[in-house]
Amino acid sequence: MNYITHSLGGVAAGFAVISATGISDPVQQTTVVTGAVLGSLFLDIDHRQSWIGHKAPIAAEVASGLFKHRGFLHTPVFILLIWILLSAGIPIWFGGSPQLHLAILFKQGFVPGMLSHLILDTLNIQGIMWLWPISKKRQHILPIRTGSLGEVAVCAVLSAVLLGQYNIFF
Ligand SMILES: [Zn+2]
Repeated sequence: MNYITHSLGGVAAGFAVISATGISDPVQQTTVVTGAVLGSLFLDIDHRQSWIGHKAPIAAEVASGLFKHRGFLHTPVFILLIWILLSAGIPIWFGGSPQLHLAILFKQGFVPGMLSHLILDTLNIQGIMWLWPISKKRQHILPIRTGSLGEVAVCAVLSAVLLGQYNIFF
């Protein structure tokens, strides 16, 4: 899926977190959604030609050299590792700082944002390794190709859901 589809997935993930947690402060809401959108784009750092790969070329060079596209970085295990890293790191990096609460909210968006990426890539014909390391078989539930009309349809559905559920474009 391309970065527009993933960003919409990230926005949806962020709004789901906001409604589940009842966060009402606009700054806190923005932090959650920002984290979710960045999380939704982050996993394609394993692909140099991706949107995030162009924004962070050195990181993409390293990540794509170490891991195949849609390999380890596109697994629930990797997301779990990032969640553990952020959960352990944020209190150390931001401890005592007024930014601590916002950093925690950012993480609360970032992790579901990454999960939205895996879900959307599962609609793509290439699929992802949901069961890694038990199985290296990639699973997909729809045969949509990146950039195809099918992907446009996914974008339209996501936009309609966001519009209907959260009225976010107005
Ligand atoms: Zn991907």
